[in-house]
Amino acid sequence: MNIAPQTRRPALSDYYSETKCIWCDGCGNYGIWTAVKYALVELNLHPWQVCLCYDVGCHGNGSDKIEGYRFHGLHGRVIPFAAGAKLANMKVPVIAFGGDGATFSEGIGHLVHGVRSNYPITFVLHNNTNYGLTTGQASSLTPQG
Ligand code: SF4
Repeated sequence: MNIAPQTRRPALSDYYSETKCIWCDGCGNYGIWTAVKYALVELNLHPWQVCLCYDVGCHGNGSDKIEGYRFHGLHGRVIPFAAGAKLANMKVPVIAFGGDGATFSEGIGHLVHGVRSNYPITFVLHNNTNYGLTTGQASSLTPQG
């Protein structure tokens, strides 16, 4: 990664990764992935100034589709390790990404604790209402019926 001088504003191309996306055509992950890159540039953040934390799942496969410092952790555990990263260095903005399965099933205890503790991190929920990566089993947010 290029270490750009702080005087230069970040550009969308700074977040470009050569790793190809493998999401299905029309997947909502493309929109979130693009919006996050635009938001980081608008916030004047270079890739080396932000910590991006990914849970396991279809969205988590985006962890190498964007440039920057990224963690790709265990299923349902993104909030604890994102909070840990934040507590280790409060100056670094931390964004965590999780799917509905990881966040509202395996990781529900961490979500509740994270909300109660109000860690100063940003959490982005990728809610596709099922376990997409493992071919569509119901998650806690799958509508009844
Ligand atoms: S299974 Fe669903 S969430 Fe996963 S890549 Fe395909 S459309 Fe996206």
